[in-house]
Order: sequence, then C-alpha cells, then structure tokens
Amino acid sequence: MQDAVRRIIVVGGGTAGWITASLIAAENRESAHAPEVVLVESPDIPIIGVGEGTWPSMRLTLQKIGLAEADLMRQCEASFKQGTRFTGWSRQGDDHQYVHPFSLPAEYATLNLAEHWLATAAACPFAEFVTPQATIIAAGLAPKQSVTPEYAFNVNYGYHFDAGKFARLLHQHAVARLGVRYVSSNVERVESQTDGGIAAVVLTTGERLAGDLFVDCTGQRALLIGQQPGAGFVSVKEILFNDTAIAVQVPYVDASQPIASVTCATAVSSGWIWDIGLQTRRGVGHVYSSAHTSEPEALATLREYIGRVSPQTDLDRLGFRQIRFEPGFRRQFWVGNCVAVGLSGGFIEPLEASALALIEQAATIISCQLPVNRATMTVVARRFNEKMAYHWERVIEFLKLHYVLNQRDDSDYWRACRDPASCPDSLRDKLLLWQQQAPWHDDAPRVDELFPSASYQYVLYGMGFRPALRATRGAALLRDRERVGRVLQASADKARQMRNLLPTNRELLNSLLPMRGVA
Ligand SMILES: Cc1cc2nc3c(=O)[nH]c(=O)nc-3n(C[C@H](O)[C@H](O)[C@H](O)COP(=O)(O)OP(=O)(O)OC[C@H]3O[C@@H](n4cnc5c(N)ncnc54)[C@H](O)[C@@H]3O)c2cc1C
Repeated sequence: MQDAVRRIIVVGGGTAGWITASLIAAENRESAHAPEVVLVESPDIPIIGVGEGTWPSMRLTLQKIGLAEADLMRQCEASFKQGTRFTGWSRQGDDHQYVHPFSLPAEYATLNLAEHWLATAAACPFAEFVTPQATIIAAGLAPKQSVTPEYAFNVNYGYHFDAGKFARLLHQHAVARLGVRYVSSNVERVESQTDGGIAAVVLTTGERLAGDLFVDCTGQRALLIGQQPGAGFVSVKEILFNDTAIAVQVPYVDASQPIASVTCATAVSSGWIWDIGLQTRRGVGHVYSSAHTSEPEALATLREYIGRVSPQTDLDRLGFRQIRFEPGFRRQFWVGNCVAVGLSGGFIEPLEASALALIEQAATIISCQLPVNRATMTVVARRFNEKMAYHWERVIEFLKLHYVLNQRDDSDYWRACRDPASCPDSLRDKLLLWQQQAPWHDDAPRVDELFPSASYQYVLYGMGFRPALRATRGAALLRDRERVGRVLQASADKARQMRNLLPTNRELLNSLLPMRGVA
C-alpha cells in the first residue's frame, strides 16, 4: 500500500507518551497490519512529574491497556478520588465549600433535579440533594469495598497517584506486555520530507529513526509540533490568568492520618492550592497568576497553608519546585504526519485535572482511528483538530465558570476573575440562559463531552448561583413532584446503606496494601 502507516514514533516518555504508545499498541495488536510503535525518550530531560489527579476515564484507559488496578495501587502510591472539594471560591473562608463529585445527579438522563432544588429554596447543598456521593465524600469514605472487583465501584471514582511512578509503571507495562520498543536517547533534530511532513528524528547517537506518524509528547518543549507551520498557539491568558505553580510533596507525620477521597482545591488571594492525598504523602501546590503576586508571596501562602493543615511538618525540609506555563493550546494539534499529545499540545491550570483526560481523549482517537495511509491521515487529522479544539474550548469555558461567579473582595485577582470582559462569549450566553433554566443536556450536547452538563450544575450552584426560574416551568415541576420525592428517598436510603457499608479511604487502602506505612 502506498504511504502505509507501518511505524509510529512517539517522542517523549511522560504520561502522555506512555499512554499514547500503550493505547496504540493495545488497540491495534490483533490487526494484520499492526504498526510498530517506538518510544524515544531523553535520558537527561526529566518528565514534569506533577499531574496526580485523574478522572474516572482513567479506569477505562487502564483496562484497555490491560493493566491491573492492583499494580497501580501498589506501585504508584495510588488512592481513590471521587471529585473535587472547593473551599473559599465563592466567598473567602473555610465555611464556603462545595463539591463537584464524579457521579451524575440521580436519574439524570430523564429528570433535571436542579430545577426542583432551585424551587425548594432548600438549605441542603446542591450536590447533597442530587447524589448520595456527596454524603460519602463528606464522611471520608471510599468509593468501594475491599471485596469489590477491580475497577468496579459503589460510587464512581478516578485516582490520585504519584505521576513519576505512574510513568514508570506504564513504561514497564508497555514494553513488557504490549511490545512497544523503547529507545533512550535525545532527539537532536527533526528531518523533513519534501512535502513538509516529518521523515525521521535524528538522535544524538547519530541513529536516524524514520517513521510514518510522529507523536510529539515532548512536553512544554514541543520539539516536533513547534516546528510545524500552522500549528500555532492560542493563548488564553486573558481568560484564565494563572501561569505559575509551586509544587511540593508533604510526607504524612502520622500513618493513620485520614486520606480525603477528593482533591481539595482551596482558593487563596491570587490563585488556589491543590491538596491531594496519596498513601504516604500529600501532593500540594499553589497555582497563581504571576501578574497578581510575586514568587516569595506565593511561596509564603503555600507554606502558611501547609502549616495550617499539617502543623507538625517541618517546612524547611520540603523541596518546593516552581513551574511556569503559558496557558493555551495549539491552533492545530495534528499537522501533516505530526500530532501533539500532552503538554506539547497545550496546558491550562490543573483545576479539575483535565490534562490527563485530554491526553486519554487524544490517544484514544489516534489509537482507534489510526490512519492506514497518508490520504486517510489527512481526514483523521482534520477531524482530530476539530474535536480537540472543541474540547479545549469547553474546558476553558468550564474552568472560567469556577472564577466568574466569585464574590471575593480580598484582592484585585478575584475582582479581575469576575470581570465580564474576561469571560468567553459562549459562557456569558449560557449564564444568561441559566437565569431562566437549569443546565441540562442541550448545554453539553455531544456524547463525548469532557464535562457533562451536570458538572456545570455542580459548580454553578456550588458557587451560589440561585436564579428564580421562569414560571412556565411550574407545571413540569408539579408533574414530576411525586417522582422527585421517590428519587430523593431512594438516594437518602442509598446514602445511609453506603455509610454503613463503606470503609474510609485509608481503611480500604490499608486492606489492599497491608504492608504500607509512612515513608
Ligand atoms: C503544576 C501542574 C499540575 C498538574 N496537575 C495535573 C493534575 O492533577 N491532573 C492532570 O490530569 N494533569 C495535571 N497536570 C498536567 C500533567 O502533568 C501533564 O499533562 C502530564 O504529566 C503529561 O505530561 P507530558 O507527558 O506531556 O510531558 P512531560 O512529563 O514533560 O514529558 C516530556 C517527555 O519528553 C521527553 N523529551 C523532551 N525533549 C526531548 C528530546 N529532545 N529527546 C527525547 N525526549 C525528549 C522528556 O524526556 C520526557 O520524557 C499538571 C501540570 C502542572 C504543570
């Protein structure tokens, strides 16, 4: 076959590289024309090593590549994540909290409980009203029991894990079980074809790795895609201001310390702090806008937070690491025979942990629609670019929703975050519409939406958005009243049962990993 895709070169061995290589190898291994997958990684340039929060989609990805959940738990410090708890986002202070759980509201396909919650003017927080998972999270319970089979659950979950260890586990698995060929070397230069595509990458050893499709997973360096005309970059700094993070690992001082099964996201004066509980340590970091605060101030804010949540920690023994990023994404992710996955394709702050989910999406499309030749590649590339641009725009819109409704008055940062001029038009339109109706399926219409309309509900109502819906919905509310009563009763019963059944997150981990203790 002319221009057949027989060899795929993945450059970069971070999470993006290994997930993409693994999915391509796993999804195509039974095919008569299974391509060779080669991953080349620099022995000198470390992976970014952050990225510790995932979505439930990671369970599916790991199952597709045939990785046992037990291996993830044992080798990557993993714990269970059921969503995110936001503190201090609507107003300053620990009293202002809400959760965005992974479970959809009860009977979401056919019933919009949000309308009923708004109509009741109830004091009950929105998430608690619509899903028993909010109660499970508040009680610090795990999403499953020790006897629950791998990847199955009582309530939906993803993971928290050590990003460096995760990349190493994927590496071992991809090479040993999926037949990915590994080359440890620096790519020195990219050799072009006459038609503008990439012919080969040339390594510092002098070796020339020719290929038919090149996947750029070189992180912020964007070594391959950055050289492609037309790939461009769309900055979103005018919408999402955060451009710097300080990350730190905080060991537990007490082996019995509870482990939250949510990412804790606490708003501070010029950004927010993530706090992720792993088996022997927390991963903590401050994401902030360098236009609104200085590095010493941001560091002091982070130290103050750690001192508050873990008073016995010796702050001077911790290694703080600063990471800068330009918030934005590629104008085109796939140009010719080069496709960017991971940080090379773009990055925005890790609120809602969408980066790994975007990697999973991109790698899934590439692996499932792997073009057989260059002619098909043009079509796949065009569709890939459309889809990924759509996802990025939705992620940006959704993240902005967390900011635009804030009522904090403690800093210029929070005032700027709610300035309508910084709000994308699409979100402004939706906010107007949601004054008269609650978000539902029309607000996130695609089957493969990263954030379903339920996610918009959790954030919107968590942030205190409580419009009086239009009177014409009154008849529908009345019609569904009995059904809603039954649904809420069933939810309350489920929450009660699960409270009695489920272990704490720490107890579940101890039962799965009996030998683990404090580092
Ligand atoms: C502060 C912060 C917090 C984050 N938190 C989350 C989170 O909670 N959840 C989430 O989903 N995502 C998160 N992310 C994003 C996540 O970390 C990344 O999307 C993910 O780790 C993928 O990175 P990568 O593989 O694209 O790049 P990297 O990990 O940087 O890997 C790049 C690879 O390219 C190789 N390379 C570079 N140059 C060359 C060369 N010349 N030759 C050969 N190889 C080369 C390197 O050796 C390395 O292997 C976070 C990001 C940041 C910055």
